[in-house]
Amino acid sequence: MPGTAEAIIIGAGVMGASLAFHLTRAGMKSVTVLDKTGLCGGMTAKSGALVRMHYTNEPEARMAFAALRYFQHWQDLVGGACGFTQTGFIMTVTPDNADRLRQNVQMLQRVGVKTSVLTAQELRELQPFTQVDDLTVAAYEPESGYADPRATTTAFMQQAQRQGAILREGVAVTAIRTGGGRVIGVDTSPAMLRQARSRAADADVDLDLREVDIRDLALEEPAGLIYCPYRSLLHLPTWADRRRTFERVAAALRPGGRFAWNAIAFDYRIASSLADEHRAEPVPHTIHYAIGDNRIDINLDDGSTSSLWWATKNEWLGLIDIAGLELETMYGGFDREPYTEDSTEYVFVTRRIG
Ligand SMILES: Cc1cc2nc3c(=O)[nH]c(=O)nc-3n(C[C@H](O)[C@H](O)[C@H](O)COP(=O)(O)OP(=O)(O)OC[C@H]3O[C@@H](n4cnc5c(N)ncnc54)[C@H](O)[C@@H]3O)c2cc1C
Repeated sequence: MPGTAEAIIIGAGVMGASLAFHLTRAGMKSVTVLDKTGLCGGMTAKSGALVRMHYTNEPEARMAFAALRYFQHWQDLVGGACGFTQTGFIMTVTPDNADRLRQNVQMLQRVGVKTSVLTAQELRELQPFTQVDDLTVAAYEPESGYADPRATTTAFMQQAQRQGAILREGVAVTAIRTGGGRVIGVDTSPAMLRQARSRAADADVDLDLREVDIRDLALEEPAGLIYCPYRSLLHLPTWADRRRTFERVAAALRPGGRFAWNAIAFDYRIASSLADEHRAEPVPHTIHYAIGDNRIDINLDDGSTSSLWWATKNEWLGLIDIAGLELETMYGGFDREPYTEDSTEYVFVTRRIG
């Protein structure tokens, strides 16, 4: 892999492939796309790929409208095939939302979208099989349709590669390095592993270090203990990520094997005393809490941000249960302090059942 690039794109889904296409089309010479699995390894492959303009958010509608031209003239603008099929698109709402639908259609018409409001009768005439008894109005976009998400992404990427982009599959980015507020590079797992190996060698410790996304953990031999210190599980943003991790970890343990980790016990009083106040130690930073998203952003003065997503005790207990683990012990800290309702740390020790 080249050591430097003008742009490194993380993720070869439709967004990454489109970006690679447009950057190289605009003349950028060295663009590298990294994907931990491969082209279309994420949501893109699962998408129904409806191509429609009916969004309630105007910037999103504008983007969708700008993209329509590409789907309509794919061969000329990109090359290859995207599988676009124009079918028209209908948006129905309950009668109490009819006024909102009309306002939305007006907004879309202002943007330039070909769309109109149909009465229930007009909809019936357009689509005779439609049941319209519970409808008063619907929005109709004759130019919309659907595409093939894999074909679209493949065409973008192949064209980007022809224009000089490099695609590296099976490379997981584990950290983004910034300097002076600008991204100056990314750490991929092999680089992190190299550093860990060299530190282990310096300390004369014999370690078997592997590159793995914990959500995809799989071991040849079932383990007796899997341990995630440093609150590292808090880097998993969604419930789906945590659930998948717990299931993979449980599957990698031998019966009776233990899984242990620590996490913060979120406390609103502590959060409000720390929030948005600049601190110099251990490195200059400011903590911001996005309470609605259960997210803590640690904003370093050098412009980089590290985010953590907290979970409640009951959510952790739910994950333990779902994964077929049982709680063995819970501490309030690493010195085996007993857990109480006032503890600010959870240390969970669980065991695989069976
Ligand atoms: C069931 C379903 C139906 C949908 N229907 C529609 C629809 O009809 N119309 C529509 O417009 N949208 C639809 N969507 C949404 C659409 O699929 C997504 O908005 C779109 O695919 C997002 O593309 P993306 O490139 O941002 O993400 P993704 O396709 O998820 O790509 C992200 C890529 O990043 C890689 N990656 C992640 N982390 C790392 C890392 N650390 N290092 C390296 N690589 C990494 C992943 O492997 C993945 O390949 C639907 C989605 C789903 C799931």
